[in-house]
Amino acid sequence: MRTPALRVAVPSPLRRTFDYLAPSDPPAPGCRVRVPFGRRSVVGVVLECNIESNLPAKQLRPLEAVLDREPLLGRELLALLVWAGAYYQHPPGEVLATALPTTLRQGQPATASGVVRWELTPAGEAVEPNALARSPRQAAALALLREYPEGAVAETLGGLGGNWRDTVRRLEQKGWVGRSEGSALPPPLPNPGPAPTPSPAQEQAIAAVTARLGGFGAFLLDGVTGSGKTEVYLRIIEAALTRGEQALVLVPEIGLTPQLVDRFRRRLTVPVAVLHSGLNDSERLNAWLAARDGSAPVVIGTRSAIFTPLARPGVILVDEEHDTSFKQQDGFRYSARDLATVRASRADIPIVLGSATPSLESLHNARSGRYVHLRLPERTGTAKAPPIRLLDVRARSLDRGLSPRLAESMEHHLAAGGQVLLFLNRRGYAPALLCHACGWSGLCERCDMHMTLHAGQRRLRCHHCGVDRPAPPACPECGAAELLPVGHGTERIEEVLAERFPDVERVRIDRDSTRRKGALAEKLESARSGHARILVGTQMLAKGHHFPGVTLVGIIDADQGLFSADFRAGERMAQLVTQVAGRAGRADRPGEVLLQTHHPDHPLLQTLVTAGYAAFAEATLSERQAAGWPPFSHLALLRAEAATAAPPSTFLEEARATAQSLGAKGVYLLGPVPAPMERRAGRFRAQLLLQAERRTDLHRLLNQLAPALENLKSGRRVRWSLDVDPVDMY
Ligand code: ADP
Ligand code: ZN
Ligand code: ZN
Repeated sequence: MRTPALRVAVPSPLRRTFDYLAPSDPPAPGCRVRVPFGRRSVVGVVLECNIESNLPAKQLRPLEAVLDREPLLGRELLALLVWAGAYYQHPPGEVLATALPTTLRQGQPATASGVVRWELTPAGEAVEPNALARSPRQAAALALLREYPEGAVAETLGGLGGNWRDTVRRLEQKGWVGRSEGSALPPPLPNPGPAPTPSPAQEQAIAAVTARLGGFGAFLLDGVTGSGKTEVYLRIIEAALTRGEQALVLVPEIGLTPQLVDRFRRRLTVPVAVLHSGLNDSERLNAWLAARDGSAPVVIGTRSAIFTPLARPGVILVDEEHDTSFKQQDGFRYSARDLATVRASRADIPIVLGSATPSLESLHNARSGRYVHLRLPERTGTAKAPPIRLLDVRARSLDRGLSPRLAESMEHHLAAGGQVLLFLNRRGYAPALLCHACGWSGLCERCDMHMTLHAGQRRLRCHHCGVDRPAPPACPECGAAELLPVGHGTERIEEVLAERFPDVERVRIDRDSTRRKGALAEKLESARSGHARILVGTQMLAKGHHFPGVTLVGIIDADQGLFSADFRAGERMAQLVTQVAGRAGRADRPGEVLLQTHHPDHPLLQTLVTAGYAAFAEATLSERQAAGWPPFSHLALLRAEAATAAPPSTFLEEARATAQSLGAKGVYLLGPVPAPMERRAGRFRAQLLLQAERRTDLHRLLNQLAPALENLKSGRRVRWSLDVDPVDMY
């Protein structure tokens, strides 16, 4: 006789589901259940009910509890997650767990809790702004709260930086600020006035997408920085809202600023749920539930927000679609951008991928007609995109990375009242420290890499494993006192600037200078307001920010991108350079971009500066086609690591043999080889690359290979992972 069973995704590293005895009134797919698993009790998600298990009835264990009356995840999202687990070769239980907010994963009830809001009391409203001249933090908090008559939530006040809670508490003690606990989402903000009239190009893009609402369509919105892409998103969202539908907007981590969220809240005058890594558990749960029940018509989030349930999905937008932060680099290695396309297609709604520097994958899809290519070739208003000029720095005397020509230009722009942005994608003082006497060079003892000198604290740090120790006063090998910093990072550039422009206010923005919570917001504000006249930074400065006063962008060094072993390095370099260049001359003043290089004749660099990103992308696509790299082939990377060098290569050799025994039709097996950086954090790493012209060939092999790998004995002596569509080959 047939025993009714349930199929459950249980959080476990095993690439399979588990069957349990179905109760008489079985929960629907998408409900959470508490189940016995080995000797533990865990929270799983029902994938199927009413199935016939292959297990004999007496081996089926009963559920411990049903946690949801209603499915937490709808049929469509559940199917997407199962599909994603299979596509990325990741255990279904872990995939489902990734999709749930922490508290739900732990089995807590799916109910929203109140959210605290702070607002000015009548006494607070009456305070004269200059009454607080002596405590600028309190003044800033009051000014912010004035902008939010309906109350500001923690997320908004967090923009004040530092210990904003202390500041607000002081204001509460003075009786100027009160707090209330209310519904999960902040109410919409007052609309500041009429929206700009779309340009003809914007109009065309808006019309193309809105005409497709209610059905699937994929669009690449290819618009230079400042061309009004966000404005196009807003109009498309408005159109979806009038149809009673929801919009899901994905943005890179660094792009999800309070300013962006504010812009959406003010313009759309509906509640906006925000999902990012800075939320606490209850904030995250509230936003998630508001998306799920539809009370948030607009949902903005970073990578993992792609798994947010939506009551009435209408359109998905991915901003800065080329950004690598959309790809998860460990655990469940999914691409939120790619899943967004799959989700839109399954939900039968349009998807818009926007960027000033589209990924070659998306451009290829546009060329082949899979995506509709929408272009915004010009900036709005009078601002013109500045040309990039190469500064040949060969044989020039560089002052710690800064060429005399760039320094002169800086003087010129500063004197004319402009701001200067210097970009160098390397933090710290110098990427290596060298002994002049014996050649000792400060290698990390756990990685095959040099440690970076951080001069401020006089420390050597490994940027790959985090080892951190005092910089030695003399060579640890030979005792010589002469230790030379080699190369330059942002700290070193800052040192030159302090000498050359001692009276000019500067701000440095990189991961080191913004570690303190709120520091990034503070520094960006100082850059935006024009208080800081010279901005130095890494890619944190390059992305999406609007600095209206910047007239000169100086790129200290982008040469590494020209000769890397990674076939994507050129694309990344071009994207960064174009994005940084886009920070210049965004308002009414013309901009100038200078790029220092030792390789002014490099053909790709030439193409980029003379013909622009689109031409660069064309040329690079041709190279990729000739070399058979993505998007003209499909990759999966099998990585393995262990405390010694032998086990990873043994495992990968066996994996290769297993793949061959499975036929591996249409799939090239490259390797195993040591990883480009073989030793990292004390572990030896190796990899086997699988490459196929046709995705079906690759996946046919992976579907058989992944379970076979689980059974390899040599696999127990290493940590291994499969990365489908890898973005980072290291
Ligand atoms: P992007 O997202 O492409 O960088 P934005 O949408 O942020 O561009 O637009 C850049 C600036 O131009 C913003 O200040 C925006 O308000 C303004 N803008 C956008 N579209 C128009 C338009 N059609 N007319 C005038 N100003 C516009
Ligand atoms: Zn020495
Ligand atoms: Zn290290």
